[in-house]
Amino acid sequence: MHRHDPTRILQDLIRCPSVTPAEGGALVYLDGVLAEAGFTVDRPVFSEAGTPDVENLFATIGSGAPHFVFAGHTDVVPPGDEAHWSHDPFGGDIVDGMLYGRGAVDMKGGIAAFTAAALDFLTEGGLKQGTISLLVTGDEEGPSINGTVKLLDWAAKKGHRFDAAIVGEPTNPERLGDAIKIGRRGSLSGTITVQGRQGHVAYPHLAVNPIPQLMKLIRRLTAEALDHGNERFDASNLEFIGLDVDNKAWNVIPAEASARFNIRFNDEWNRDTLEAWLRSRLREAAGNEIDFELELVPTGSASFLTHSDKLIGTLSDAVEASTGRRPALSTSGGTSDARFIKDYCPVVEFGLVGQTMHQIDERVSVADLQTLTAIYRGFLDQYFA
Ligand SMILES: [Zn+2]
Repeated sequence: MHRHDPTRILQDLIRCPSVTPAEGGALVYLDGVLAEAGFTVDRPVFSEAGTPDVENLFATIGSGAPHFVFAGHTDVVPPGDEAHWSHDPFGGDIVDGMLYGRGAVDMKGGIAAFTAAALDFLTEGGLKQGTISLLVTGDEEGPSINGTVKLLDWAAKKGHRFDAAIVGEPTNPERLGDAIKIGRRGSLSGTITVQGRQGHVAYPHLAVNPIPQLMKLIRRLTAEALDHGNERFDASNLEFIGLDVDNKAWNVIPAEASARFNIRFNDEWNRDTLEAWLRSRLREAAGNEIDFELELVPTGSASFLTHSDKLIGTLSDAVEASTGRRPALSTSGGTSDARFIKDYCPVVEFGLVGQTMHQIDERVSVADLQTLTAIYRGFLDQYFA
């Protein structure tokens, strides 16, 4: 049993309706809990034209190195149709050992566990030297513009230098202890536009139809795999996610057709090599007959892999001590805020079982929540030993 009860903290957090970008009381609550335990707490609000203002939280205690960070987000995705939930998505009910509510696993549960673990560690006099900080954003499920990126920059300007971080996102596919995420694939999006010549369907010789031309380009890009993966990463993948012709008429050959795609890529690629790969295949398929343009979305992220024996080894030991299983080291899945933190210090992700995240009846087993707290606590004991 933990002195500070993660179940109680999670119930309190779930009762704060913090659907992105609303703060919902979640950060105010954490501020209270952490300040009472002696943390110095700041709640900077970041803004940018065209996006909602977002409140964030940075809490720190201790001084000097090593400086360890628990990172996460209190914002949640909307509950969807609340009538389909068997329990109030903002109620925090516990039934048959399961705690229900939006954010139970993604990731108020992770925050409750690391908060309880840090408070227990401090109460029992564990921090003899070094610093523990909590970096919590309210903008992970949204545009991620006024969140972790700016909070990291803000903390760096205040003189904070981090040595290691754990993000409490749900990383386990089936059971607690399955996997630690030690990296992520990168992401790159783009649009291919083909220019034809508009005309009457009955007079096709006077027009150029861009649709079959675009299909030819799409077929070329999907004809071969980017790679077959390696021992660190899954295979890279190009997926077409939209086709746009914008033609409401039945008797008009359209002037233009476009296709949008997203690539998730491993460490065998970067933005430049992917662009070269795309252009060479598109040019080859287009020859002299297809007039196309390739435009890549300027944002996106590179793949990364964390190399830190101390961080990965210590966390793996803590997971094994509490679950009896050695976690796999994984790089699968989508992106998370770890992609920003990796520019400041070695970062890994470990949290709850992700099966119900973003779903109706999102829920966490209370036993898992207690075990995750014990894992984080075991990590702190070893890391600061
Ligand atoms: Zn999340």
